[in-house]
Amino acid sequence: MSSTPIPYGRQSISPADIQAVVDVLNSDWLTQGPTVERFERTVADYCGAAHAVAVNSATSALHIACLAAGLGPGDILWTSPNTFVASANCGLYCGATVDFVDIDPRTYNMSVERLEEKLERAAREGKLPKVVIPVHFAGQSCDMEAIARLAERYGFIVIEDASHAIGGRYKDEPVGNCRHSTMTVFSFHPVKIITTGEGGMVLTNSAELHERLLRLRSHGITRDPALMKGESHGPWYYEQIELGFNYRMTDIQAALGVSQMTRLEEFVERRHHLAKRYNEALAPLPLTLPWQQPDTHSAFHLYVIRLSLDRIGQNRRHVFETLRERGILVNLHYIPVHTQPYYWAQGFKDGDFPAAEAYYREALSLPLYAGLSAEDQDRVIAAVQEAIQ
Ligand SMILES: *Cc1c(COP(=O)(O)O)cnc(C)c1O
Repeated sequence: MSSTPIPYGRQSISPADIQAVVDVLNSDWLTQGPTVERFERTVADYCGAAHAVAVNSATSALHIACLAAGLGPGDILWTSPNTFVASANCGLYCGATVDFVDIDPRTYNMSVERLEEKLERAAREGKLPKVVIPVHFAGQSCDMEAIARLAERYGFIVIEDASHAIGGRYKDEPVGNCRHSTMTVFSFHPVKIITTGEGGMVLTNSAELHERLLRLRSHGITRDPALMKGESHGPWYYEQIELGFNYRMTDIQAALGVSQMTRLEEFVERRHHLAKRYNEALAPLPLTLPWQQPDTHSAFHLYVIRLSLDRIGQNRRHVFETLRERGILVNLHYIPVHTQPYYWAQGFKDGDFPAAEAYYREALSLPLYAGLSAEDQDRVIAAVQEAIQ
């Protein structure tokens, strides 16, 4: 039996990926240039969105998406508590107030019922959100039609955090087409579906938001005379017309991204194949396996099991540690964001979002990535069977 540790997620890099990066290293452009544009076009076309803006992380993408949406001090942003902290922090970066909507106990995505209740209450109290960020947890799309209907009724902007979900589908269309949202964000961190080392992207169908996102990515600077406040001093002239950042992606990263895009569907298919193998092998155990909403085709970033603790003799920590000792590097997605100490100061406390907290007590993410071999997966399965006895 091999003892090489099995991570919960990892990149899959081919010789063609390496060659694509080497080609850029031998070219004139290393910083943001023609390859970034090609990567943006490739992803936008794949998803069926009009525009894409590549940046150095999904965290940066969320930040500039919120700014482009006009989020600022005095505004409110809502997201799911079952997410990475970045989905909420982007609101705080903008000086807005952050609040959460509890999750659906089957999909672990933001619950549309809880969202509707909370909106009704917020409308009465005059505390409606300006931006709502649904997170496509584990790669499975949220119920975007229902969320878009509520956005219409209550007048908020929807930014999809699709960090887990490139290559996934909703109602037979690609996640990222922004049919039911204003913007969609992807992450290209190595544990996600495709990678650029670090990287992220914002997609949108709005030409106006596209322009704004490009500017925010690069210091708030424009070279468009139509947007300038003053007289041009000459051909070198540019103006900073708002406060932006250096959130640019390099052509080196984008080359990897373009090359990875050619295998996106293969990656997602492989993830589904492995998920099905887990489903079959783990079905007899006292676990809840990932439920799939029939309208969605998940990108399967994560394979999360829930331990039926009342039927298992062990606690979750014991199961986690036993698996880790055997080199199965299970993980946990996510510690509910509102229970983070930084968020205590925002007024949150344990018990605020009971479905997310109940989920967290029982959840465990098993290794899942395109390069996971059947033999290694069988090692994971055998170790899970043993650990929960
Ligand atoms: C990974 C992740 C992010 C942040 O992505 P980075 O590219 O690492 O900044 C944001 N939201 C979710 C849901 C994520 O999983």
